[in-house]
Amino acid sequence: MGGQPMFILSEDTERTRGQDAQSSNIAAGKAVSEAVRTTLGPRGMDKMLVSDAGDVVITNDGATILGEMDIEHPAAQMITEVAETQEEEVGDGTTTAAVLAGQLLAKAETLLDDDVHPTTIVEGYHEAAQLAHEAVDEQVLAGDDLDDDRLRGVARTSMTGKGTGDVGAEALAETVVEAIRQVEGDDGVARDEISIRTQTGSSSSATELVEGVISEEEPVREDMPKSVENASIAVLDVEFDIREANVDAEYDVSSVDQLNAAIDAEESQFEQYADALADLDVDVAFVTEDIEDRAAAYLAEEGILAFEGVDDDEARSIVRATGASRVGAIEDLEASDLGEAEQVRVESFGEDELAFVEGGAAAEAVTVFARGGTDHVTDELERALHDALDVATAALDSGGVVPGGGASEIAIAAHVRDQTASIEGRRQLAVEAFADAVDVLPRTLAENTGMDPIDALVDLRSRHDSEGRAGLISEGQTGRADDPVEAGVFDPAAVKHEAIESATEAATMIARIDDVISADN
Ligand code: ADP
Ligand code: MG
Repeated sequence: MGGQPMFILSEDTERTRGQDAQSSNIAAGKAVSEAVRTTLGPRGMDKMLVSDAGDVVITNDGATILGEMDIEHPAAQMITEVAETQEEEVGDGTTTAAVLAGQLLAKAETLLDDDVHPTTIVEGYHEAAQLAHEAVDEQVLAGDDLDDDRLRGVARTSMTGKGTGDVGAEALAETVVEAIRQVEGDDGVARDEISIRTQTGSSSSATELVEGVISEEEPVREDMPKSVENASIAVLDVEFDIREANVDAEYDVSSVDQLNAAIDAEESQFEQYADALADLDVDVAFVTEDIEDRAAAYLAEEGILAFEGVDDDEARSIVRATGASRVGAIEDLEASDLGEAEQVRVESFGEDELAFVEGGAAAEAVTVFARGGTDHVTDELERALHDALDVATAALDSGGVVPGGGASEIAIAAHVRDQTASIEGRRQLAVEAFADAVDVLPRTLAENTGMDPIDALVDLRSRHDSEGRAGLISEGQTGRADDPVEAGVFDPAAVKHEAIESATEAATMIARIDDVISADN
């Protein structure tokens, strides 16, 4: 045989194999999860992220941090994806999931060093994950019958330590539950009917629930009404301008009379738009296209409040809330296309004006109107509210709540350890390692609260054994081991299930890789 060696990869290809590949992947995964570890829990720290362009984001939100970081290593990207999946599926627990994935990798590294085969680790982790799901199910407090108290608890827990400004998580939780209850129906929570609108220029304590839609558009003219009660509303995809055909027509303006005639023709066209709306008693028009100045003047004369350039999403919300139908031509507009709202009013906030469409006749659309002093405050407030709305929805629609503050993690680790004795061979080591990885979550909560992590863990375990559950309740500058149910600290069960699922998947996928082949580019 012999002869020429065979090259199946181009010379530019970089290749890392075996242990080298594994340790580089694991190190990258761990590094990413370490990056978010200090933000976990109510006393977690914030991160300030500065983009290439110099934009600054200050946040405590795991998915946001990882999303803003410029992560290149493929294994590190997989951990980022864990956080993304978590955010998409349940809207919270992104830090938890990323930290767990990193810890599973760290423990896997130790096992690999001890010559446990990757396949054994993968099997052990999957088995342990099953046990972890069981433990979460056992901890569920109220399946589909959550009272407002617990719902507020789960919303508040998700917001504690986030940038909730001076208003505090308590008051916001109340607004969140109010919003959720408004859109709750037989088919569950219509989460899409809840929007968040932010506006700077006030303290966050002015945050409130508006029963309707808030549009960013300003009235086309100052002399239009600022407020209309029992409003008939038209939503139009119509350009309020001279039609193409008319524009193209060439006027022979050799005489002043002819010029006047041409102008009159245009004027009458503008007037017709306003007349058509007035004839149907339209009070408010939301127009997705432009309104020519002279057309606007006629609308104002008829006392119609009109908005132009309304964006598509807003037009859709207004349609859903008021029962209007979108119409593409003025001639087609009929009385049955109009929507209704108890009130449409325009309010000024410093430089900005917002239009409130309240008490719409159709859907129960609601908007959380989030206020704050600066954009940084309202941005973080919006993220916190977003999470809180998602967790409350997840709690109501997918499986209730479990005690928070690390209590469910303590229960998971205990349950997994209980079962290890019955597991044969080296897989047992992997199952144990899984429990150790889960322990890092309450440990980190303790660390971030300024408590001694070892003492806290010992304390939590013994309380868990004697009382069935124990969590770290953050209190002022420190924390104590106590019953999270009494303290009102809850997480949705779905958040825990998802974190176990996605962290296990990413960690086992990374642990399996023993060859990294990258095209040079
Ligand atoms: P994640 O991105 O994983 O949601 P967070 O920073 O939001 O990370 O922290 C979530 C953890 O903080 C959960 O385990 C939750 O139970 C815990 N937690 C929230 N509020 C409290 C509180 N007041 N006391 C103790 N733990 C809390
Ligand atoms: Mg959270």
